[in-house]
Amino acid sequence: MVKYELPKLPYGYDELEPFIDKQTMEIHHKKHHQAYVDGLNKTLAKISSEFHPQYISAVLSDLDAIPESVRSEVNFFGGGFENHKLFWETMTPKPIDQPIGKLGDAIDVYFDNFENFKKEFSNKSMSIQGSGWCWLVFNQTFNKIEMITTSNQDSPWSIRKIPLLGLDLWEHAYYLKYENKRLDYISAWWNVVNWDYVGNRFSELSQD
Ligand code: MN
Repeated sequence: MVKYELPKLPYGYDELEPFIDKQTMEIHHKKHHQAYVDGLNKTLAKISSEFHPQYISAVLSDLDAIPESVRSEVNFFGGGFENHKLFWETMTPKPIDQPIGKLGDAIDVYFDNFENFKKEFSNKSMSIQGSGWCWLVFNQTFNKIEMITTSNQDSPWSIRKIPLLGLDLWEHAYYLKYENKRLDYISAWWNVVNWDYVGNRFSELSQD
């Protein structure tokens, strides 16, 4: 069967300082993300491999095919695994200022301009009640980008949207440094978004 492993971070735990602190990064990756990896492997071991022949994003896109007895666990641990994997990939110690190329153009089309996009994304991130994520996603059906939020570890894949960029708004993502000041965390995070990576992800998906 498919066994998932904790992905390596593409940078050191301290390299996103001062925006995301070393201690938060280390606990978030080694403890929280590892717990989703372990939970996912344990859950998948309970069901026959015929139910999960594909990578987790494909499984999440068709949760109804998973036996009901483990569906919510697959959703939670699988979403947690994949959401965090993307979260690490979409941050970098050496970011470019803003999206360029096709993604830059699409942001201007759907959100007027980059500053306004950031404002809307920050507001949406602030509006999440409890734990969840704010996302920029690609809607393949309509060949467009959208901004959405999900609760807990729900993944955009399970509503058939492809995540391009996600911000973790669980308290474990920021509380050590920012305490209850969620907006300060969001504002700091903009400084480490890997627009090169997000832009390439979008270019591969979008049709001209
Ligand atoms: Mn997290």
